[in-house]
Amino acid sequence: MRNLFYMLMRNSVVLALAVLAAVLNGCALPLASESELETESDREFAKMRAQLVVSNDVQARAYINCISTAILSELERPYSDKEWDVEVFESEDINAFAMPGGHIGVYTGILKVAENQDQLATVIGHEVAHVTRQHALNRVNREMTTQAGVIAGSAVLGGGQATGQLLSMGAKLGLSLPYGRAQESDADVVGLKYMAAAGFNPQQSIQLWKNMAKKSKLGPAPFLSTHPSGDTRIQELIEQLPSALKLYNEAQAGGKKPVCQQ
Ligand SMILES: [Zn+2]
Repeated sequence: MRNLFYMLMRNSVVLALAVLAAVLNGCALPLASESELETESDREFAKMRAQLVVSNDVQARAYINCISTAILSELERPYSDKEWDVEVFESEDINAFAMPGGHIGVYTGILKVAENQDQLATVIGHEVAHVTRQHALNRVNREMTTQAGVIAGSAVLGGGQATGQLLSMGAKLGLSLPYGRAQESDADVVGLKYMAAAGFNPQQSIQLWKNMAKKSKLGPAPFLSTHPSGDTRIQELIEQLPSALKLYNEAQAGGKKPVCQQ
């Protein structure tokens, strides 16, 4: 977490300088596009694969792939057209993520909290929803606009920085920023739809977040620090249950009954 914090700070400073330069050069502030974020995310994912321990536990990989495939088959275009890439990292950390460009990373440590396929489908559905709802992109562009506004209203300095560099910095920042509360809540709702439509039991989402809450009392974990599991989160999920159960029943009736074995 410390590293992430420094990366965030460094990227924020560089981004502020780049936005400053663009504004002072009289350029209209370019906003990052999804494809820029995807390029940066492809790079980050390749780096993680090289630096982290990739799991060679055949059964865990098959289990995680089975759940991911079922969820991904519920996506709409353009996300259903992407070639999604699922990687399993051998680590005690309780963590999972999805990145623009179609990358999913699951740390084996999360299997101790997500006790069954429905609970893990809750996590993967939630992470994939952050991507399909373009949360990282919205976040970075809001940040750029805010910074440009601050700069436009302050003192004038000289500077020259390429627009491309600004976008690349913005994309880096977009990948390192934690999501906001509203985005978390949106990912919960959309993710629950994905997992239920794939035939996973949405009632298990409640148990998952209860397990997360229990774990967070024992010590810090990457996923828990960005995904606080409080009563609000669980209450919101309970409110979504009737419509999610409807999707689940339809999926089951239509023969979508995933059996992913741990
Ligand atoms: Zn989230």
